[in-house]
Amino acid sequence: MEIVTRFAPSPTGELHLGSAYSAWIGWHRAREAGGRFLVRIEDIDIRRCRRDYERSILADLEWLGLRWDGAVRRQSEHFADYGRVLDKLDAQGLIYPCFCSRADIARELAASAAAPHASSHGPDGPLYPGTCRHLSAPERRSRLAAGEEHCLRLDAAKAGSLVGHYHFIDETRGRLEGRPLLLGDFVIARKDTPTSYHLAVTVDDHLQGITLVTRGEDVLPSTHVHVLLQKLLGYETPLYAHHKLLTDASGRRFAKRDRDMTIRAMREAGLTPQQVIDGARRAAGS
Ligand code: GLU
Repeated sequence: MEIVTRFAPSPTGELHLGSAYSAWIGWHRAREAGGRFLVRIEDIDIRRCRRDYERSILADLEWLGLRWDGAVRRQSEHFADYGRVLDKLDAQGLIYPCFCSRADIARELAASAAAPHASSHGPDGPLYPGTCRHLSAPERRSRLAAGEEHCLRLDAAKAGSLVGHYHFIDETRGRLEGRPLLLGDFVIARKDTPTSYHLAVTVDDHLQGITLVTRGEDVLPSTHVHVLLQKLLGYETPLYAHHKLLTDASGRRFAKRDRDMTIRAMREAGLTPQQVIDGARRAAGS
């Protein structure tokens, strides 16, 4: 099978060493196998993403010698693709509108913390307590008709029982049992955008024929729901390789806010592309 990998940055800042390492892995895995390396711009968050960041990320990739195959796919140009998939999930009765604000959710969580069955926790904190899942059909209809702001959520328990047992393979961790409830009823289309990270990634990995997803291990919990969506939609499940995140000498994660860790800064400091890549690999211990 041809190896097809991708690098999928969100243009919310300059390319930094951690993401460059991720890009290098995707590029390297494709090149060593004679496969293809694709680049996708994940810019669904139109308020935070900027075209000048996109341009500089692509210029940095070129400078690093990480040439990609084919055209760059920009998610903001494909909202219709995600809309079609949302309709399919809706037809299966798996999504519901959620009118809760952050404050509503916090209030609900605080109230349920006092109850005997405290709310469940996910990898990033308490999960959505499911308030709007329990709305009656007429109430939903009237709030939608009134134009109330809402996002769409996936009914994770329903989706999980429809799919049954599922698994995926992570190259270093082996076979992992799918955990459909790990992120609770996660957002499948945001209030401000007709898709979400989870939906857009799953649809695009499928449409782009990605066979090996290389990305940071911070995203591993999300993979459980990406594979759930793949099963619901009848997509193939790619192989996954979640890599370690780069840390500095004290073990702290590099982040976009570390200005001196951007590729641009390193380039301006006179480092060569090879030195940058070697430095990233050293920091990752690979
Ligand atoms: N756009 C995501 C990020 O920048 C990509 C995660 C993924 O590769 O799926 O973190």
